[in-house]
Amino acid sequence: EVRVRFAPSPTGFLHLGGLRTALYNYIFARQHKGSFILRLEDTDQSRVVPGAGESLEDMLEWAGIEPDESPRRGGPVGPYQQSQRLDLYHRATEKLLKSGAAYRCFCTPQRLELLRKEALCNKQTPRYDNRCRHLTPQQTEEKLVQKSPFVIRFQLEQGVEPFQDLIYGCHRHEVASVEGDPVIMKSDGFPTYHLACVVDDHKMRVSHVLRGAEWLSSTSKHLLLYKALDWTPPQFAHLPLLLNKDGSKLSKRQGDIFLEHFAERGYLPEALLDIITNCGSGFKENQMGRVLEEIVAEFDINRVTTHSALLDLQKLPEFNRCHLNRHIESESLQPQLVRELRSEVENVHGNQLLQHEVLETGYIEKVLMLRKGHISFLKDLVSPSYSFLWVRPSVALEQLRAISVEFEAIGSLVLGLLRPESVLTVDALNKELRALQDQVKETKYSGIMKVLRLALSGLQNGPSVAEMMVLLGPEESCRRIQRALS
Ligand code: GLU
Repeated sequence: EVRVRFAPSPTGFLHLGGLRTALYNYIFARQHKGSFILRLEDTDQSRVVPGAGESLEDMLEWAGIEPDESPRRGGPVGPYQQSQRLDLYHRATEKLLKSGAAYRCFCTPQRLELLRKEALCNKQTPRYDNRCRHLTPQQTEEKLVQKSPFVIRFQLEQGVEPFQDLIYGCHRHEVASVEGDPVIMKSDGFPTYHLACVVDDHKMRVSHVLRGAEWLSSTSKHLLLYKALDWTPPQFAHLPLLLNKDGSKLSKRQGDIFLEHFAERGYLPEALLDIITNCGSGFKENQMGRVLEEIVAEFDINRVTTHSALLDLQKLPEFNRCHLNRHIESESLQPQLVRELRSEVENVHGNQLLQHEVLETGYIEKVLMLRKGHISFLKDLVSPSYSFLWVRPSVALEQLRAISVEFEAIGSLVLGLLRPESVLTVDALNKELRALQDQVKETKYSGIMKVLRLALSGLQNGPSVAEMMVLLGPEESCRRIQRALS
């Protein structure tokens, strides 16, 4: 049975890097008809941000990759939050102490600091010198009687066995020769990441650990823990790093990469899923426009290479436009867009709406269909350049005459073109508008368009006049030109 987990620390909001790790786990679970678990790794209580766990789960739901088991949903191997599983870590620690694989370390923070400074002076990487490994049982007993504070360390063995990573291939990290024995249980009774992660992956029956490549060097340490606990380890697949386009670290400081931020700016979750899977390997061919179902069907972890994925966030609006188009064209998704746009229009233009019909479904649908491909965000349609769709402009005759002294003549000609009952098409209107030129003496074609655009919309730039007329319909177009003439 395939069981995978996404195990973020609730120290902040979900960002694109986390979303990608979660997504790969979700895909793997779906492809193997397995389970996707969300586990909150909150053992470093000093770094926990209140509400972050909730928000992580909210954002996974927003993105459409809901976990099967999680703090909120529960499940057979809960609780799903490490701070509520302390007894499990204590039991594992007892087992390791009993077998001699772990030991109590009474070294004071002062001594550790001294070791660190010494190493730095000698240009060496600081590491614990494993001194307390060699305490006799009596010495340990004495310290315990004196109530000296202690941590518990895991005794690293030499001779680490290589393991087969699904992405990085055969890998081995000789931890004992580069690191001191790691702390597995802190003096406050909370485990460290390494122990908690191993205990939970075992107890939660995790079959595959898919996580960021930054954890690759920890895996050998974890494998030593599995061995000492006499547990079978899961399989590992480390995911190549997700970097900015220029190869720099995807940091939270260079622009916002939190999901909340994208959601607020009107991004569709599909655009985010699409761009983060497209910027890396895993598909036969990368292509914009896949939805989750297609990603699950086409993604193949065996195609993932160790090359970093380079994310070009400037392309994100284009991805959004592509998915927004799909929503507009979809019979099942369009109604939601209509509702959203209606409420945006009410929010932005509410007290100026002159015509009640603009809030009608038919009109909003027409606007969406005619503007798809031109907008990256639904909200674009309530920006000033589209206010003419919702609010009747007022343009003074002088303003129009300043553009063309022949405005009145042009206006009357156009009124003749627009029969209220006619169904307007952009092509047909363009032809008729072009023909106007012959009947107007002084004003050039571009001037004719300019003055008409101003009369229809109050705008100097924007969609073509024909497009505006189609959007507004013959009746409203006539009304606006009559108003301008009067
Ligand atoms: N809590 C770790 C993190 O925040 C999880 C690492 C893992 O998946 O083992 O990235």
